[in-house]
Amino acid sequence: QKFGIQEALSSLGVKKKNPGVSTGSKWLKSTGALIESFSPVDGKLIGAVYEADEKAYRQVVEKTTQAFKEWRKWPAPKRGEVVRQVGEALRKYKEPLGKLVSYEMGKSYTEGLGEVQEMIDICDFAVGLSRQLHGLTMHSERPQHRMYEQWHPLGPVGIITAFNFPVAVWSWNAMLAWVCGDTCVWKPSEKTPLCSIACQNIVNEVFERMGVPEGVSCVVNGGAQVGQWLSADENIPLISATGSVRMGKAVARTVSERLGRPLLELGGNNAIIITANADLDIAIRGALFGAVGTAGQRCTTTRRLIVHENVYEEVKSRLVNAYGKLSIGNPLDPANHVGPLIDKQAVKMYEDALRKVKKEGGRILVQGGVLSGKGYESGCYVKPAIAEVENEYEIVQQETFAPILYLIRFSDIEEAIGMQNGVKQGLSSSIMTGSMREMELFLSADGSDCGIANVNIGTSGAEIGGAFGGEKETGGGRESGSDAWKVYMRRQTNTINYGDTLPLAQGIKFAI
Ligand code: NAD
Repeated sequence: QKFGIQEALSSLGVKKKNPGVSTGSKWLKSTGALIESFSPVDGKLIGAVYEADEKAYRQVVEKTTQAFKEWRKWPAPKRGEVVRQVGEALRKYKEPLGKLVSYEMGKSYTEGLGEVQEMIDICDFAVGLSRQLHGLTMHSERPQHRMYEQWHPLGPVGIITAFNFPVAVWSWNAMLAWVCGDTCVWKPSEKTPLCSIACQNIVNEVFERMGVPEGVSCVVNGGAQVGQWLSADENIPLISATGSVRMGKAVARTVSERLGRPLLELGGNNAIIITANADLDIAIRGALFGAVGTAGQRCTTTRRLIVHENVYEEVKSRLVNAYGKLSIGNPLDPANHVGPLIDKQAVKMYEDALRKVKKEGGRILVQGGVLSGKGYESGCYVKPAIAEVENEYEIVQQETFAPILYLIRFSDIEEAIGMQNGVKQGLSSSIMTGSMREMELFLSADGSDCGIANVNIGTSGAEIGGAFGGEKETGGGRESGSDAWKVYMRRQTNTINYGDTLPLAQGIKFAI
């Protein structure tokens, strides 16, 4: 680590007080409230950002709508070249941006760097995509006719993001949207506003050099109200929203009311099934990182461990032992495994959840608790906990965004899959097994009902090449790799008659 947080902030152009609304190179004045960003690492004020007011919001939408008319005419590989250069700029700023992510959000520095790496990876993916964006051709039933489909840019995209991936989730959306010919309006989490200022500054450097129209990359800081302006806005055909189920339901209602397109990436309640045929070394390592990594604040965090009765006691004692060795503290110090929760409200939710576990009859195996004293001044550091529970407990059915791991025992694999699926969320799932039969059953139509189903890997840490997202209350959206780009475009089916007659489809005769 070559430099401190102050150097990181100044190299990213983040000031003590920042305007929070931008259409690209221009930062707009707004009378909105000042959002202060305190670090969960040490409780100190890092900086502040002005929220968008309605006037500034309207200016942004007008600018982005105009910019779309220009940007959609740029050849897609040329847009790809712009995104390639954004990737280069991110390589240049990887260390300061990784540090800011770590300090503002509270994840470890290596995870902060990993998040920026993910942004770089999605840039590379998008560059390749910019020479594809391909449709299909079909055979027409009519002679001398040709049929095909093509994908056109959709329009301005609203991107609402959560605090826990303060930069990567925006880039999954923005990089694909840009090569697809869309413009973007980003509404970052009000808990991590400074990350958005840094990203916008990095993008501006490239966009200005490349002559990208003002309005292709916009930021509107603020809370739920600004998210609702976007959701209700008929100028914004697609709203990509990442966050809690509660937020997703509110956004879905507003977007659907106007028949807009919602892309929802919501909460998970992810489980690992450990069967009697598992390699327990792999299983324990996967479960440990999945449960305590990012202090349990990933949408793919392992929340439930469904363990076969033959290996249950061994898994339990090895996990309890491993938890005893975790070091909790400043995430910028590479010696620590677990950093803070995002804020004191999250700490309260963690404490409430532990109380509910006990009330419902759960047995605590590793005690939780809030840490205080030197190094824990922010009040956001908590101990990762483990509890033995039943899958049906109300608290187990919910996503608590904190490091609480639930242990559940099973005796046959169908029962285990039933429990894994027996929650409202459907994001990520895993099976740890050396049995081909168990593995294939888990991956079959009778198996996991999640958007992500892994074998001998934990639930967290997806790669960008696959489509990312989940079913049921997780919202059904898919982002990032595979053909997730299609949601950012509109499909058009074209039929061309190159003959000298006009036969009708379905053999219909119509003559005067
Ligand atoms: P949150 O729902 O509190 O906020 C997310 C974003 O939505 C913020 O920008 C917020 O301002 C905005 N928002 C809140 N209410 C809104 C409303 N009514 N209308 C419009 N916008 C609104 O979530 P959070 O605490 O920031 O993040 C944690 C949650 O995000 C967890 O549930 C986690 O699982 C989920 N998450 C999901 C994914 C995924 O890809 N599936 C990824 C990361 C996080």
